Amino acid sequence: MKNMRKDFPILNQKVGDKPLIYFDTAATSQRPQQVIDALSSFYTDSNANIHRGIHMLSERATELYETAREKIANFIGAADSCEVVFTRGATEGINIVAETWGMENLKAGDEILVSEMEHHANLLPWQRLVQRTGAILKFIPVTPGGTLAMDKLDELITPRTKLVAVTHASNVLGTHVDVKTIAKKAHAVGARILVDAAQSIPHEKIDVQDLDCDFLAFSGHKMLGPTGIGILYIKKELHKALPPYQVGGGIVYEVDFNDAQWLEVPQRLEAGTPAIAQAVGLGAAVDYMNERVNFDELKKHEAALTTRAIEGLAPLPKVRLFGPLEDLKKSGHLVNFVVEGMHAHDVAEYLNCNGIAVRAGHHCAQPLAKKLGVPASVRASFHGYNTLDEVDSFVTAMTGLVTEG
Ligand code: PMP
Repeated sequence: MKNMRKDFPILNQKVGDKPLIYFDTAATSQRPQQVIDALSSFYTDSNANIHRGIHMLSERATELYETAREKIANFIGAADSCEVVFTRGATEGINIVAETWGMENLKAGDEILVSEMEHHANLLPWQRLVQRTGAILKFIPVTPGGTLAMDKLDELITPRTKLVAVTHASNVLGTHVDVKTIAKKAHAVGARILVDAAQSIPHEKIDVQDLDCDFLAFSGHKMLGPTGIGILYIKKELHKALPPYQVGGGIVYEVDFNDAQWLEVPQRLEAGTPAIAQAVGLGAAVDYMNERVNFDELKKHEAALTTRAIEGLAPLPKVRLFGPLEDLKKSGHLVNFVVEGMHAHDVAEYLNCNGIAVRAGHHCAQPLAKKLGVPASVRASFHGYNTLDEVDSFVTAMTGLVTEG
């Protein structure tokens, strides 16, 4: 992991006179030099629009773009690279499913099951879909311990369930969700499952065939890649019935004045000029993960950072930690807490004065924040480039805050 840190030049800077400590990976990760170089080299040597040009640069750009798709397909264990659709990010991926598959397949009385710990990105598209179709939205409860009430699944998943849309890891509590078990139960009643992998793919190896999910969405910028690019995996058996999301160039093979014939997925869902350089950059992030990150070591390292943070914060007066702490100590990558009597933004501002970047707020999961009874909390989130020394500095700063005020 020491080797990994060297690849992230942005971390070698100061905030005032304090070294920067970046604990905001759950909002966006940093990018290694290899990804920055891939972006720069694309614009320096290979920039052109893809698919339509019959010239050297266009062919090169097309090949780089399609090679990135293949790298990502291999990385997530997809059976075919056509199952990998480039999007702007997890949010757009989930909206695509709601607007295409959802609008085609949902009718009044059908049920969509989500959990109480979803990011707004995996809640609002379903709220809108049920408002339009008359379908019903149901929720898997979060237990007081911060896990999903898996024992409620058998009563919540019914023959009326058409879709289960669930996060793989909570961006607020850090909880890891057993989506494989949920997929089995969903499929047993003929329902489909969508996995929001925005917070899991930066930290663990995902195999879509092993999870047996129908849709899986994530963002490049949280997994060491560029902003403006993400992936929606769609199982091939669902492709035929999917209408386009946006319509325009790049998705048709025949257009008349009054009608058009669509190309297959993934092109059908990628209207207009895509984020070409960013897709290539995401391919480079996947190369980086394959070559430089050992996921077992990463998990151990992040769990050690999380354990040190939990054990440092838990004894502090006025500090209240959220989430399944024992699970997080084994395999987590974040801590979430409040300081009683202090607004989360003030805590974050104080930490910023100590060079420490954390996030404070409802973390785009307001219903969960309301359930926890705290409108705002502080989240410190980690990756392989963070160190135990950084966690110690954070705990020292927090100790100063709660003891000296
Ligand atoms: N789902 C989860 C669990 C997230 O943490 C996020 C980002 N905070 C998203 C979805 C949305 O990702 P993006 O904003 O990159 O589309």
